[in-house]
Amino acid sequence: MTKHIFVTGGVVSSLGKGLTSASIGMLLEQRGLRVRMQKLDPYINVDPGTMSPYQHGEVYVLDDGSETDLDLGHYERFTSGPLSRDCNYTTGQIYLSVIEKERRGQFLGKTVQVIPHITNEIKSVIRKMGGDDVDVVITEIGGTVGDIESLPFLEAIRQFSLDVGRENCLYMHLTLVPYLKAADELKTKPTQHSVGQLREIGIQPDILICRCERSISREDREKIALFCNVPGEAVIEEKDKDFSIYEVPLSLVDNGLDELIVRRLGLQAKSLDISRWSELLHGLRNPRHEVSIAVVGKYAEHKDAYKSIYESLDHAGIHHRAQVRIGRIQSSDIEREGPERLLAGYHGILVPGGFGERGIEGKLQAVRYAREKGIPYFGICLGMQCAVIEYGRNVMGLDGAHSTEVEKDASHPVICLLDEQRNVTDKGGTMRLGSMPCQLAAGSAAATAYAAESVQERHRHRYEFNNEYRQQYEAAGMRFAGTSPDGKLVEIVELAEHPWFVAVQFHPEFKSKPLQAHPLFAGFIGASIERRKRRAEGDAQSLPAAAETEEVKSNV
Ligand code: GLN
Repeated sequence: MTKHIFVTGGVVSSLGKGLTSASIGMLLEQRGLRVRMQKLDPYINVDPGTMSPYQHGEVYVLDDGSETDLDLGHYERFTSGPLSRDCNYTTGQIYLSVIEKERRGQFLGKTVQVIPHITNEIKSVIRKMGGDDVDVVITEIGGTVGDIESLPFLEAIRQFSLDVGRENCLYMHLTLVPYLKAADELKTKPTQHSVGQLREIGIQPDILICRCERSISREDREKIALFCNVPGEAVIEEKDKDFSIYEVPLSLVDNGLDELIVRRLGLQAKSLDISRWSELLHGLRNPRHEVSIAVVGKYAEHKDAYKSIYESLDHAGIHHRAQVRIGRIQSSDIEREGPERLLAGYHGILVPGGFGERGIEGKLQAVRYAREKGIPYFGICLGMQCAVIEYGRNVMGLDGAHSTEVEKDASHPVICLLDEQRNVTDKGGTMRLGSMPCQLAAGSAAATAYAAESVQERHRHRYEFNNEYRQQYEAAGMRFAGTSPDGKLVEIVELAEHPWFVAVQFHPEFKSKPLQAHPLFAGFIGASIERRKRRAEGDAQSLPAAAETEEVKSNV
């Protein structure tokens, strides 16, 4: 019988429910349990694919091509169970499915209502996650208790325990215990109110995970337990971690959470071994190298817009025992101030994916700067398209080379629409999406990094390299290091005459894990470490290493 854990959030948003849920999934897996993760999002968009990064941060793409919430990235990085379309539902999808059933006449003339029709639909998508090969399903409910749009989801998870038995369900509530400076006290009232709201709906949480900046005293813990009607041991402290997110699972273990879950759900679990995780943290605390990487994007100021990229850079740092300092550079700032001022001193430059016109000239300047100065360059999706445009314009003399996404009538449309996209008008879920095979050219930097002949990587784009220019580019020194197996789509370009210049049409950042860095990110950081060494040696007289670091600091 599959057991279910439901994770809700209270008091405020951004408490790190996704990370906490992923950490719990990881701990249970380490105890030998087969875990599946799911996120239910109360917003009405069918998926986050059409939402602005300002609203929602990154869109995380799965192998099956579903465009999902960025919390699924945490799940995939922390746990090993398969993730698919079934792992992320929104209110929009739930309603869409119910309305389609109504149109087909499946409700036999009944009035279709939130209870039971919408709640039944929600319960069915939760039930779908269980099965003979699954011990625990962790379902995270997005949003905050008290939001109007969360209500059907909370009602559904309340009913769920009546269907499968209360003993098979565990309700976990993530809440905030703020510190008030003026009173020099932690405050438990917001938590009491939030749990009060849950209990009004009919959900008595079993475990409270309390986010706090300061440790919760025994007295406060007892107070929370008493007012929220849970045993004292079920009040788990989750103190802010300013060093690394990888401390979260360890701190939950220290507070007895995995043991409590196993006991409460009556799970047959082995004892915990998280030595590899502890080693990872030890490595992070004791780096052997340090590199500074500039990520040049349109949404650089938004910390979640390129989430998986930042995480993948960290993973590659873990791989090399290097501290990776990431400078988030707004591409439009480069347009105003020039690349030298903003990019000098970085040991590697990465241009991530993106859409539309804003900031693209700044990205092109960043590519040129990396190419001309021999700084390792990693282009991802739009970052690859920019590499192609820049090479065409500045090396091959293709004046006006551009992507037709930005300039419909470009004189040299070196990036153009994929054939399959020509007649597509709907925006949602219609790009080239999901995992596709890529054949690697022997001897290329990509083939060396992957140590493979072919790979599977995830895509999310409408435009591609224009094959009409292929021969010209090849003759001018650009190498097509990866293509689709039929050779028709260019997936990776490289510059052989450069220390490390690799640009890919796909999104490798969706397949990197803390203990298994993605080969291309590892290759990029390796080359950036080399760059730093070369600079320290070569420029010893002209530019002291300290000055170089100082310069970078001002941008980070
Ligand atoms: N806008 C480009 C395209 O659609 C790149 C997409 C991306 O970077 N994800 O092809």
